[in-house]
Amino acid sequence: MDINTSNLFELTHKQVFFFDLDGTIYLGNKLFKGVLELIEVLRTKKKKFFFLSNNSSKSTEDYIKKLNKFDLNITRNNLILSQHPTIEYLKKNDFKKVFLLGTQSLKNEFKKEGFELTEDNPEILVLAFDQELTYERLEKAAYILQKEEFPYIATHLDNRCPTENGYIPDAGGIAALLYKATERMPKVFGKPNKEMLLFKLDQLSISPKNAVMFGDRLYTDIKMGREAGVTTCCVLSGEITIEMIKNSIFKPDFIINGIWVLLDEFNKT
Ligand SMILES: [Mg+2]
Repeated sequence: MDINTSNLFELTHKQVFFFDLDGTIYLGNKLFKGVLELIEVLRTKKKKFFFLSNNSSKSTEDYIKKLNKFDLNITRNNLILSQHPTIEYLKKNDFKKVFLLGTQSLKNEFKKEGFELTEDNPEILVLAFDQELTYERLEKAAYILQKEEFPYIATHLDNRCPTENGYIPDAGGIAALLYKATERMPKVFGKPNKEMLLFKLDQLSISPKNAVMFGDRLYTDIKMGREAGVTTCCVLSGEITIEMIKNSIFKPDFIINGIWVLLDEFNKT
């Protein structure tokens, strides 16, 4: 297998650093070692850095609050969440009445963005990581999806989300459940859609070659990075093992045990 575990210093020369969150920067409520120091180093060296997450169970505001509880001191400009391209799509296509399978936190963000949330006469169904899902809501969603070609989109389709105690069903799991009843699958926006990275690099006028994506998932983080043309680095602190990498078609350029290894590399320079 042609995977680099040495020459990690190359990564310290990148201009843009994209980081997955769950499993890469923290697990549940536990920040990985070295993260605060790493962010300080990136700031000092004037590197651009962004945290990406498909986890749409939280609004952008709540996500910033969560991250800043870890003393990361980040702003909206450091965040790329799966609801951002989703909301952009709804606005571009003039959808206003939305049936949102999402948490109250996400509902608040949608309302703030000007959408009317309704079960009665929606123009589109938006599926997110709804950790407050009830069977009644599933039932209603299933009925709506049986209307012919009813518009149906999802913020992301991760199958499962890692937590301190194990995996829990994510948006992909909920979509699978609805698929069993309706045979409908949504159009998807978050990772592994390469636009999650490319729109930001476009804004910065920086080539993908000068960027690196760190993540713990092959079928989202690494796939997206490869398709966007950025360097990819898989961390083993989340859901992936070396064995899984060997068996996957989405091979990262680099593998490290955790994000603290990047800090060690910077400290050597
Ligand atoms: Mg992850």
